[in-house]
Amino acid sequence: MKRRFIVFGLIVLAIVLPFALFGCDKKVTNLDFYQIEVQVDEENKTLDCSQSIIYHNNSENCLLSVSFFVYANAFTEGQKAVGTAYLDKAYPNGENFGQFCLEKVTVDGKVAEFCFDKPSILTVEVGQLWQDEQVQIEMDYTIVLANINHRLGYGDNTINCGNFFPIACVYENGQFSKPDFSNIGDPFYSQTANFEVKICHSADYELACTGQQKQLATKDGRVSVFCEAENVRDFCFVLSQKFELVKDVAGDVEIRYYFYDQPNAEYHLQTAKKAIETFEQLFGKYPYKQLSVVKSNFCYGGMEYPNLVLISDCLADKETVDYVIVHEIAHQWWYGLVGSNQFDNAWQDEGLTEFSTALFFENNLEYGLEYQQIMQNATTSYKKFVDVFESVLGDIDQSMDRSLTEFDTEPEYVSCVYTKGMLMFDWLREDLGDKKFFKALREYLETYKFQTASPQDLISVFCKQRNLKKGIEAWLGGTVVLN
Ligand SMILES: [Zn+2]
Repeated sequence: MKRRFIVFGLIVLAIVLPFALFGCDKKVTNLDFYQIEVQVDEENKTLDCSQSIIYHNNSENCLLSVSFFVYANAFTEGQKAVGTAYLDKAYPNGENFGQFCLEKVTVDGKVAEFCFDKPSILTVEVGQLWQDEQVQIEMDYTIVLANINHRLGYGDNTINCGNFFPIACVYENGQFSKPDFSNIGDPFYSQTANFEVKICHSADYELACTGQQKQLATKDGRVSVFCEAENVRDFCFVLSQKFELVKDVAGDVEIRYYFYDQPNAEYHLQTAKKAIETFEQLFGKYPYKQLSVVKSNFCYGGMEYPNLVLISDCLADKETVDYVIVHEIAHQWWYGLVGSNQFDNAWQDEGLTEFSTALFFENNLEYGLEYQQIMQNATTSYKKFVDVFESVLGDIDQSMDRSLTEFDTEPEYVSCVYTKGMLMFDWLREDLGDKKFFKALREYLETYKFQTASPQDLISVFCKQRNLKKGIEAWLGGTVVLN
């Protein structure tokens, strides 16, 4: 019996050892690989794109198709890219629509069948794709940009190309997660991947992008730029004829601040630098070599992308600009490094990001915002939301764990997800004490870095310190009453 056990043990070791030794390599080679060539027509505001994805089946199932989220379709006629409250900011020149024209899809070089399950989801047939197998999916498409101050579109100052390309949906629990378009929140969920994006644009424009950029050639007034980004969950670029640029470094991270009409550029660059330094100290290292903070035409406050954050050019004052810069940079950890389903569980990244923003101000007192005051203001604001909504609607749903399309209004979403989300993490901190709380937070980063974490994963990490599951669930379910 003993001998048999040893033989069995050796067999197990022989199977497991290569994976243990090359565990990290395995993860890296299993990342999807996007290569995209983009021809930007600045005059007609179109993007001509050629895209290749080496898609890996990391699941245990045999896949017959692969689904992609196509955000570009959110800007076509018939869709509501923004809620009524943001129409004026989004469309200063009048309502306007874009187009997404998919010309060709091939799988391993052969023309493939595809369909749109709904406007947000493109599904491509791939034959039989078994576990650990890969397939090359190629697409040619043209995007006509809408004149809209949004993630994808053009305004008076910038051409924003966020979420412009079809991105593979996350396959989990035996199916692809297929978000709807939602003009509330960020309806995005993707795994990290490797990117090589070649962007050809007019030499009159300056480019900001995810990853590292290398200028390849300039010919006839056109510039070709090669952008490379590894282990990131998305790719964004922004073009402007007005961009000026200031730079600094935080450790080995180059920080770039792209701006126009901005008297305090150097000051905001320093805020970005302090944000990187503070969050590295509190949570763990920012593992990329660059971060770009990009002023742009944008109808909301800001938006996070890997290595790049958009900051709206219509923010009221320099304090608000700082706040938004810090919030979006905190997302580099909670969204960028630790991914989560932003459509189904927005509180998971937004609540933690808003809480991290408060931590920044606690650690950088020169900004004049005190942590306790931020929490007090949040409690007051949340209670006011409950009072107002209850007086109009009677009983209201105060739960946090709802998908974006289950929120009826923007104030309801912001109050439940950001404000109450932040207060929940403050409660956790208070309950566990700083030592255990930050230990859990660092473990959350370390365990799920470059991966995705479910709400249960987050809860489990904190419950290792002490079992607060019921308490957390009461916050999420909306039964906690704030005093
Ligand atoms: Zn956010």
